[in-house]
Amino acid sequence: MREYPELMEVADGIYGYIQGSGGWCVNNAGIITSAGNAALVDTAATEIRAKRLKDCVHDVTGVDPFAVVNTHSHGDHTFGNCVFKDSTIIGHHQTRMEVVGAGLHLTELWPTVHWGSLEITPPNVTYANEMTVHIGDIRADLLHMGVAHSTNDTIVWLPTERVVFTGDVVMSGVTPFCPLGSVRGTLAAIERIRTLDPLTVITGHGPVGGVDLLDVAEQYMLSVQTWAKQGIAEGIGPLELSQNIDLGEHAGLLESERLVANLHRAYSEEVSTTFSDKLEMRAAIAEMGTIFGEMVAFNKGPLTCHA
Ligand SMILES: [Zn+2]
Repeated sequence: MREYPELMEVADGIYGYIQGSGGWCVNNAGIITSAGNAALVDTAATEIRAKRLKDCVHDVTGVDPFAVVNTHSHGDHTFGNCVFKDSTIIGHHQTRMEVVGAGLHLTELWPTVHWGSLEITPPNVTYANEMTVHIGDIRADLLHMGVAHSTNDTIVWLPTERVVFTGDVVMSGVTPFCPLGSVRGTLAAIERIRTLDPLTVITGHGPVGGVDLLDVAEQYMLSVQTWAKQGIAEGIGPLELSQNIDLGEHAGLLESERLVANLHRAYSEEVSTTFSDKLEMRAAIAEMGTIFGEMVAFNKGPLTCHA
């Protein structure tokens, strides 16, 4: 059993900060350091985890990060922003809106987690399509992926070292999750990441890997689309369908209950001509209570948050 959080240097001055096997709310971060500068990719879900991350950045780089990039708005990646108030927090325009809009809602889903003292701290520098941050000699391109895992995904691409931080567009050893994103959009984002030709893939949850992680996520999403077509043809809903699916090659992914949520999204995308527009998104948000209930039913018990 490995000790976590694990710090893995994948190229000179570029680290994956890997928290556990990556289940609910246990996300990864990235540390980039060069010439006496440091930047961070994502924070953590709880105050104690964010402070531990801050200590680690300081130990490794000798400085506090001048910038924190949020890959998307979800609380496990952004709640810890409040521990980095002296840093510039960077994210997509929509990330800022969603961080403010969602507030601490995630804490209500798992009230027994020791969240600590959290204060919503949205990105204070935002961008639209692309932005470049220079950390000493290291160039980091922030690329907006559109609607994929969430409404507001950013990947961080280091073109010289060919390292990509995917956020939750791709996860490693963990079931993808896009009820408030898009199955189609995730597939498009994976394709775009593949064209960058990365050597190292550091995902939002789970161990560091290579392009094989893109293949795993892609195959899963293609299966979800196939299953959704079958379910619609047979006239059965996502929960009942998921209870009868043989996960096959995808059986090893953690948090398999997410299948129900992903199928809800895939069903919508099969019948909808519009693609993740605002109305469709509002409908998806309204459905989230039901979807979480169905995931609990699939799981035959409460979902375990590991934060
Ligand atoms: Zn997320």
